Amino acid sequence: MTELWDRAMTTLRGRLSAENFETWLAPVACEAVEGDAVVLRIPNRFYADWINNHYATLVLDALEEAAEGRRPAQLRFTVDENLQERVPPAPSGSTAPPPSTLARPRARARTTHTPAPTPVRGSDLNPKYRFDNYVVGPSNQLAHAASIAVGSSPGKRYNPMFIYGGVGLGKTHLMNAMGHTILGDSPDAVIYYLSAERFTNEFIWSLQNHRIDEFRRRYRENCDVLLMDDIQFLAGRDQTQEEFFHTFNALYHSDKQIVVTSDVYPQNIPEMEERLLSRFQSGMVADIQPPEVDTRVAILRKKAEAERIALSDDVAHFIAQVVKSNVRELEGTLLRIAVKGELLGRSIDLDLAKESLRAHIPVQEQALTVEDIQKAVCAYFGLKLTELKSKRRHRAVSYPRQVAMYLCRQRLGTSYPELGGRFGGKDHTTVISAVRKITGLLESDDEKTVSVVQAIDRKLG
Ligand code: ADP
Ligand code: MG
Repeated sequence: MTELWDRAMTTLRGRLSAENFETWLAPVACEAVEGDAVVLRIPNRFYADWINNHYATLVLDALEEAAEGRRPAQLRFTVDENLQERVPPAPSGSTAPPPSTLARPRARARTTHTPAPTPVRGSDLNPKYRFDNYVVGPSNQLAHAASIAVGSSPGKRYNPMFIYGGVGLGKTHLMNAMGHTILGDSPDAVIYYLSAERFTNEFIWSLQNHRIDEFRRRYRENCDVLLMDDIQFLAGRDQTQEEFFHTFNALYHSDKQIVVTSDVYPQNIPEMEERLLSRFQSGMVADIQPPEVDTRVAILRKKAEAERIALSDDVAHFIAQVVKSNVRELEGTLLRIAVKGELLGRSIDLDLAKESLRAHIPVQEQALTVEDIQKAVCAYFGLKLTELKSKRRHRAVSYPRQVAMYLCRQRLGTSYPELGGRFGGKDHTTVISAVRKITGLLESDDEKTVSVVQAIDRKLG
């Protein structure tokens, strides 16, 4: 039972951001399989809602793969108070933890007895992400060099710094590494590392709970370095963008270092205020591309060393040849093979690697489906599948929906009525006009659309 869950967790670790994995899945344990349901133990009810809303499909997929094809129909939850201690403490003075504190990536203050204010300085940096375990190659050289410069003299030449690149290419890693270096040089520096999603959650919570002054003091006045991850999450969130704009200005004008990451080039973030985009572009902008094969091999070696996995050259080269797009997937594959070797009592040789890759990465070889495209679009825009299929007409939803319809039509040639059905029962004329609109935008070289479609298309392989 736990073995099944452990295997699913290994897969999930490879598919979620480290932050989300640590926050939402690391504290979860498996209780039992009851009929067609898998029962998970969670620290509190909030986890049930969150996991159901955000990760249910991913978790069920991983369990299905771990059980070699037997898919549980549903997840059920049972609260286990003993797991409670994994939940970060509430901000001082509050009675109930706001969702934002639950969304904190690491529960470091586990051993603290008095409630600590959130976030605790530097505590949210991931100790695993350092410069010394970051492999540098042509694909990330510039971003790495600039990060080193920011780490050694924050708030000086490269301010703000903007790093962009696809999922799992090392943006979060570099950002944390800068944080560690700065803290190493100035242990008293107040460094806030957080995702734009968490910033949004905290902002909304502070508004609702009349704590906005405190929120502003924290991010505008009491902060020396702001590391804001995945800024594309703010797309279409006007009020949070406005708040972030003022935060940015306050920090910038007092020479505090700001680092921002995104999965696309600033101008290509949809529904982002122009004045913010121009701020992002005013400093250092560096991209990270998918690593070349030599860098992939080097990353595998480094990871194997850290995890004490005996990795031969031929296996490293084989994995590096097959898994091309994403470092997280690369590492996930290595870990999966290692776990499999351990479970089966086999050494990690080419045969085992080939078997494992056949079983676990068919996604890239299997025929693409409408669902794959919908998921890729949702992942890109940070939407839920239900939103994509909803009737909502707000541009934040309708534009991604149109892109998804266009891609389905292009890649799969699915009929318009069928596509209408797959997108929550829309009329075929809606699909036709969506496809026409995106085609028109592409033909007129609309920069944003070109880059959005290309990025998702590439991800689909
Ligand atoms: P992103 O934030 O761009 O989605 P992450 O920083 O979370 O990606 O990286 C995903 C995983 O890949 C992490 O475990 C990270 O340590 C690892 N990784 C990415 N790039 C490198 C690299 N150049 N060298 C070593 N590990 C890397
Ligand atoms: Mg990241």
